[in-house]
Amino acid sequence: MNKTLTIALSKGRILGETLPLLEKANIVPVEDISKSRKLIFDTNHEHIKLVILRATDVPTYVDHGVADFGVAGKDVLMEASTNNLYELLDLKIAKCRLMTAGVVGEALPNRRLKVASKFIKTAKAYFAEQGVQADVVKLYGAMELAPIMGLADLIVDIVDTGNTLKANGLEARELIAPISTRLVVNKAAYKTKYAQIEPILDMLRGAVEDNEGK
Ligand code: AMP
Repeated sequence: MNKTLTIALSKGRILGETLPLLEKANIVPVEDISKSRKLIFDTNHEHIKLVILRATDVPTYVDHGVADFGVAGKDVLMEASTNNLYELLDLKIAKCRLMTAGVVGEALPNRRLKVASKFIKTAKAYFAEQGVQADVVKLYGAMELAPIMGLADLIVDIVDTGNTLKANGLEARELIAPISTRLVVNKAAYKTKYAQIEPILDMLRGAVEDNEGK
């Protein structure tokens, strides 16, 4: 008997690129997600449901096994504290870079650095690995403001075109990690629902290759 499979999707920027990929893998929501305020959607498969979450909540749902699969950015996965999920597949969408950035032309001070970021776990690990003494403060948005206002010497943030940094007098400095969207699965679900998961995984692998071929 088929068990229900729940796939947690990140809303926002990633969702617009995830849905066409799912469609190529023949998983299609029965109603238009962008036109609905619902959070749970049925699909063309009786046993597959989609839930739409804030990106940072996706690893939590999968880690707790209430969602079997999750689609989340590598930036979010690096920052999350999870033990019960496997990263199965690089979906190769929503590509960007996690970088340090500072004020254009401004040298770093000769003291412990002040760093502001939404990604504090990743930022702390990065500076520790570089052997650089840094205090990292958590911000929830508008990171670009921190160096301008003197809250931080550097920020750690997502960079795509670099336009946001440029518009605020900042420049990208060091690459911390290339980022793309990943498919994760709950470890227990991967065992107990393997027969159902494997064909979906195959379809998604095909969809990713198809996308890359373009
Ligand atoms: P840009 O001005 O093109 O460098 O875009 C930078 C801003 O867009 C950052 O502040 C990010 O929060 C956001 N951004 C860009 N790409 C992504 C992505 N793939 N996933 C999430 N946020 C992104």
